Order: sequence, then C-alpha cells, then structure tokens
Amino acid sequence: MNIHEYQGKELLREFGVKVPNGFVAFTVDEAVEAAEKLGTNVTVVKAQIHAGGRGKAGGVKVAKSLDEVRTYANEILGKTLVTHQTGPAGKEVKRLLIEEGCDIQKEYYVGVVLDRATSRVVMMASEEGGTEIEEVAEETPEKIFKEVIDPAIGLSPYQARRLAFNINIPNELINKAVQFMTSLYQAFVEKDCSIAEINPLVTTGDGEVLALDAKLNFDDNALYRHKDIQELRDLEEEDEKEIEASKYDLSYISLDGNIGCMVNGAGLAMSTMDIIKHYGGDPANFLDVGGGATAEKVTEAFKIILSDTNVKGIFVNIFGGIMKCDVIAEGVVEATKQVGLEIPLVVRLEGTNVDLGKNILKESGLNITAADSMADGAEKIVSLVK
Ligand code: ADP
Ligand code: MG
Repeated sequence: MNIHEYQGKELLREFGVKVPNGFVAFTVDEAVEAAEKLGTNVTVVKAQIHAGGRGKAGGVKVAKSLDEVRTYANEILGKTLVTHQTGPAGKEVKRLLIEEGCDIQKEYYVGVVLDRATSRVVMMASEEGGTEIEEVAEETPEKIFKEVIDPAIGLSPYQARRLAFNINIPNELINKAVQFMTSLYQAFVEKDCSIAEINPLVTTGDGEVLALDAKLNFDDNALYRHKDIQELRDLEEEDEKEIEASKYDLSYISLDGNIGCMVNGAGLAMSTMDIIKHYGGDPANFLDVGGGATAEKVTEAFKIILSDTNVKGIFVNIFGGIMKCDVIAEGVVEATKQVGLEIPLVVRLEGTNVDLGKNILKESGLNITAADSMADGAEKIVSLVK
C-alpha cells in the first residue's frame, strides 16, 4: 500500500526523522491558510499524488508570497499531472502539501528496500539526490552505496557513518545524518515498509539534515497489524478494478493490453502473460484466482476482467490442482450470465475435474474456443483479438 508524501512525513516525524513543517490542503483557501500558519518567507506548494516526478511535471512550486501560494494552489489543484510514474493518463491532484521552503545546500538520496538476493533490508545512499535513482544506477552505479542490515542487530552506527562519509555529507553534519538514517530504518522496520525512499534528503544552510520528499510503501500482508496505516489509504489513488479485486482477496494487477487473463497460481499467471506476448498479444491484466477459490470468487474475478473496456478477448488458463476445473467453469458461466459476454473467450482447462468443467462450459451455450494447451490457447486468443 502507498501513502501520500505528507502522510509519510508525519509518520517519519514520529520516529525522529527531521522533515520541514507543513500542512495538507484540500482547497485553495486551505492552502493559503496553511501558508499563513507557517508564516515563512518561502512556501512550497506540492501536489500530493501517489507518484514521483512531480517537480519536473510542474507539481512543485516555490511561492514567495501568499498571493503566489493562492496562484499556484489554484493552478495545481484539479490539474492532471503526467509524470514518468503515473503512466500516460496521469493523475488528478486533489490534495496539496503546503510546506516551509528550505534553504537547500545539497540534495542526496537515501532509500531503504528489501533486497531479495540477500534476504535482508538494505539501505542505499547516493550524493546524486533529486534525480531519478534509476538513472544514477544505470549511468553511474559507483555513486550508489549500500549497507546490508542484519535484522538481529539493526542498522549499526558504523554502517550509517560509512554511508554518510561515502556520500560526502559534510563532516559537521555526519552525526545528524547518522541519526536520520537510524530513525528512518526504525520507521521502516516498525511499520513493515517495503520501501522507504527519501529523494532528496537535503543539508540546509542552517545546518540541518532533512527529508524533503518521502515515499513510503507498506507490505500489504502486514497491514492487519497497523490500523493507523490502513486509515491512510486513499482509494482515489488506486485502480478501481484493483480495489474491487482486493475485496475478494484476488491478486489482480491492471495492465495496458487487451487480452484479459484468468489464471490460477502466480507462476502460471506470469508464464501466461509471457506466452501471450510471445504470440504477439498484450495482456490486460495479471490475475491469480488462487488455489482454493470458490465459484463466487471466480465469478467476481471474471466480472472484473469484463468490466475493463480495453479487454477485447479473454484467455482462461487453469491447471487444476487444488483448484477444481468445475468451480472455474461455474464461475465463468455465472459471470457471463450476470453481465453478458460479447468478446472471444478461449479456455484451457487441465487437471482436477477437467471433464466436469468442460461439460459445464459446453452446456452453457457460450461461444467458447477450447484450447488443448497453453501455447495453443495463447495463439488462438491472440489471433481472435486481431
Ligand atoms: P518529486 O520527487 O515528485 O519531483 P520532490 O518532493 O522531490 O518531488 O520535489 C522536487 C524538488 O523540489 C526537490 O528535489 C527540491 O529541489 C524541491 N523542493 C521540494 N520541497 C521543497 C521545500 N520544502 N523547500 C525547497 N525546495 C523543495
Ligand atoms: Mg522526490
């Protein structure tokens, strides 16, 4: 789960990570009021969307008066920002962060992520802050420093110091940077984050080390023990189909293509997307209905695929192990009864109760193209959609 920058900063502040003062605003008047309360000479008006790259897209503006705050708030609220992280459709801005302007000396990068290769939490830092870290990783990987953290010990002070020295934090601010990194790591662990990225972390003219941006992601599987984080969820930032899918505990990710996929098992779902690509098609989604899905769950899953107007054909690829083919067939038939089916449907069923499943589909009268194998099914749906 994702949260907004202002929420991330509030949370980090509780852990002792220094952040600039600021208030959230939902309207232009609230924005001006917030700036008045801050009372600083320079105020920054920042679009709050669940995506980075706002600065370049015109979503971060520096205001030198209340009038300018009003002008920028007016300009940014309601605007659709297109950044490299929003996709081409962009995201509409509905909230602003009104924040005190900082006298930036230099921008750095600090991120905490889970590293699957070492099965450990890793803290990364670079003196190339403010820019996209992916670009730094590509062009000057030697400028990214990493510390692998032992979970039993946590981030050791010497590790934080080594990072701070490596990224050339000025000597007099090393202790503050170490304090910053330690608090950031604590927030990451205690709140079950999957990412905590500060880009930029800045040193300021008055000798502070601050988080100027904050991107926090949380592990969905741990959300049950963080009621406070759950409350920060902003459904308006999420894909409607994904919200619907999460109600039924379905693993669903919406994609750009036009072939809807209903599959059981994450591995099979991945390879189904691959094989569709292989035959020249584009998947519209990743969907794993899981092992023990009920007919009701399958029905909802199929309805979610059908509700996607980009979908021009559907490929059901089931290998029934724990999942029974007849349950899938019932779900497909029930969903199409409820919402209709006007696009090609290719079904490949294999495994437990396969004959029962095939029979249900045959007797449903639906126009279904049967496939003998995964490759056969992918080839068929790609050509039907074309
Ligand atoms: P994004 O990563 O989405 O572009 P950031 O929050 O990183 O958004 O802001 C982009 C840039 O705007 C920062 O790199 C920094 O230079 C500037 N900036 C952001 N907040 C402030 C602030 N409070 N004071 C001064 N400059 C800021
Ligand atoms: Mg940033």
